[in-house]
Amino acid sequence: MRLNAFRDVIGHQRVLDLLADEVPAPAGAYLFVGAASVGKATVARRFAAALLCPQGGIHAEACATCRRAVDGSHPDLVVVEPRGRQTLGVEDARNVVAQAVLSPVEAPRKVFLFEDAGTMTDQAANALLKTLEEPTGSTVFVLVAESEDDLPSTVASRCRTVHFGRVDEASLVEALVSLGLDRRHAENIGRIAGGRPGLALALTHSAEAARFRDAWLSVPTRLSPAPGEAFMLAEEMLAELEPLLEDVEADNEDRVTREQRERSRRRARQTLLAGGLEILASWYVDAAALQLAGVVRNRDVPFEELAAVSPDRAVRNAQLVLDAMSGLGLNLRPRLLLAELFAELASED
Ligand SMILES: [Zn+2]
Repeated sequence: MRLNAFRDVIGHQRVLDLLADEVPAPAGAYLFVGAASVGKATVARRFAAALLCPQGGIHAEACATCRRAVDGSHPDLVVVEPRGRQTLGVEDARNVVAQAVLSPVEAPRKVFLFEDAGTMTDQAANALLKTLEEPTGSTVFVLVAESEDDLPSTVASRCRTVHFGRVDEASLVEALVSLGLDRRHAENIGRIAGGRPGLALALTHSAEAARFRDAWLSVPTRLSPAPGEAFMLAEEMLAELEPLLEDVEADNEDRVTREQRERSRRRARQTLLAGGLEILASWYVDAAALQLAGVVRNRDVPFEELAAVSPDRAVRNAQLVLDAMSGLGLNLRPRLLLAELFAELASED
């Protein structure tokens, strides 16, 4: 059964089915985890809508309750955000605890949505624990984070965890085409977005998507073992993010406060950089595939470029790029990370 509240979600069918089953008798707390921009917050809003909707989100027509929950104006949906800081602190948590004991205004329950639960401090977690432990039946907490490790374990262990995977590229491209995008443009965006519908949608109006992909696919033929040149190439690739960031930003105009905009910009930069590195890794995967009779995905890269790298080296380099990607989350100096990666990719041993 597909809830009307979920109708505009791209991908995540398994998660949506699971959540639809939860709506009639929800747990006290959920933790949604998965990569940035993959759709956790989008699904969380719609799950909240179904929990607040008098018909549980099951209706053929659009419904005012669901709409108000999704746009954040329903009185029984409390969106918990860090105020004026980078982290969710103890004051924010106490505020939630105080509100959790109040009766819902119009729905059968209240929903507390933590869109950035990973920023919660240990003190905030401690203040919340009792409320999480003793569900009242009329409150549901939905916490959103990239990983369970981002939260104090005392909190994570009290939530029902829902894992969000990447959306497969073909479904993402089809969804973009059904929104009216030209197929070639949709495919470029699908490649950059790496299974993250949030990023794909933010880029639908970007004229820079093709250029961004071309820039990352040109990296392997421009590498040099000289550290100075690796550093310059790193600077250039970071500069390639800027026009796309502006497009993502324009899509985020509803984020009103400066903190919200800065957080979303930081996240968008990381996600785009991860998208660029995935494109780079796919070049090396293609180089190996071409010579080992596999399937080449980037069919516009000249075969002679791919064939110039031995399969062993291509596999090694794909792995180096993927390792760099996993270091990206914690890395506050992406310039250095990229420069080191580019120098390693160019080295002969
Ligand atoms: Zn509804």
